[in-house]
Amino acid sequence: MYSRLYIHVPFCRAKCGYCAFASALPAQGELAEYPELLLRELNGHPAPSAPLRSIYFGGGTPSLLHPQQIGQLLEEINKTVGIATDGEITLEANPATVTEASLAAFRGAGINRLSLGIQSFDDHFLKLLGRIHTADQAGQAFRDARSAGFTNISIDLMHSLPGQHLEQWRNELQRALRLEPEHISIYGLTIEEHTPFARLYPADAPLLVEEDLSADMFELAEHLLIRGGFEHYEIANYCRPGHASQHNCGYWTRDGYLGLGVAAHSFLRDGNGLRFSNATDLNGYRQSLQSRHIPATAREYLTREEAMSEHLFLGLRLASGVSFRHFKEEFGVPLESAYRSPLADLVRLELLRHQGDRLFLSRRGMLLSNQVFSRFL
Ligand code: SF4
Repeated sequence: MYSRLYIHVPFCRAKCGYCAFASALPAQGELAEYPELLLRELNGHPAPSAPLRSIYFGGGTPSLLHPQQIGQLLEEINKTVGIATDGEITLEANPATVTEASLAAFRGAGINRLSLGIQSFDDHFLKLLGRIHTADQAGQAFRDARSAGFTNISIDLMHSLPGQHLEQWRNELQRALRLEPEHISIYGLTIEEHTPFARLYPADAPLLVEEDLSADMFELAEHLLIRGGFEHYEIANYCRPGHASQHNCGYWTRDGYLGLGVAAHSFLRDGNGLRFSNATDLNGYRQSLQSRHIPATAREYLTREEAMSEHLFLGLRLASGVSFRHFKEEFGVPLESAYRSPLADLVRLELLRHQGDRLFLSRRGMLLSNQVFSRFL
């Protein structure tokens, strides 16, 4: 039913201006009680038939948990459902919350992949975004992670920031390359509803960054990172060979995963797929666990048509795209007959390409991916 586990840690030291994730400053005692709630939730679900292939601590700021808490959680998870010996175990970390000693302790606790939320190497932009760390702290956290023994480190960077020029973005990418990470995730800033940025930059205001410039930034990243030895394996993700995020690849290929914690989402391979999500606030989450309910707020069994369209708009995010043969095996109908008209249009517009058994986004298709995906809804 699931082979991957996502654990949401909904705490941050301060709220970034653009952030729409479920996170808040922890009240007294909340960090201490949280792992116990997670385990109670895990025990309420049937165990998977095979050991977990990946675990991802996301947030929020999971590095606010003590390494000992993470170690105990992993031990309990291993006892309850099992973790594959080569399982990928990722921790997202904010550079301001870690030291070489704490990173070594996380490594010792079983974390084997670190995702550092750097976002920018420019103090002006870090301040504008409301990040709690400086550029120097970001670089130091990376070096500390290496010294602590991490051999698989990802960093997050953001572009299309208010007032950002192409040359500044080039500089960000060059600083990132100099650190020699195994993985880089790149996102353009988007303005999400109900965030401080949504008030600062209303929908009818001029664009933060012109669309053409944003596209140039996407292309510059691709150019510099590929030249630097990275593979562009997913729209927003680059890796050194062999270092794609196994956990996230599971999302794009519709592996089942269980999400634990406040606001966590789950997808179980049950029929065409079952999706559900947890209460979005800690009180609601705690209360439903206390009344011995699994804290899921929305359960939805997918229809075959929904599963087919999901298979496409998730799978096409990957540079390797989707397989015609696999689609037919999974849904019993050829891809080319299920989506005859959108496929013909998108290939004609050179947004999609096919080669042998695979269908994938062209470079232009990656830039306009939302338009492509909307044709499969
Ligand atoms: S650190 Fe991440 S989760 Fe926390 S407020 Fe900032 S963007 Fe949101």
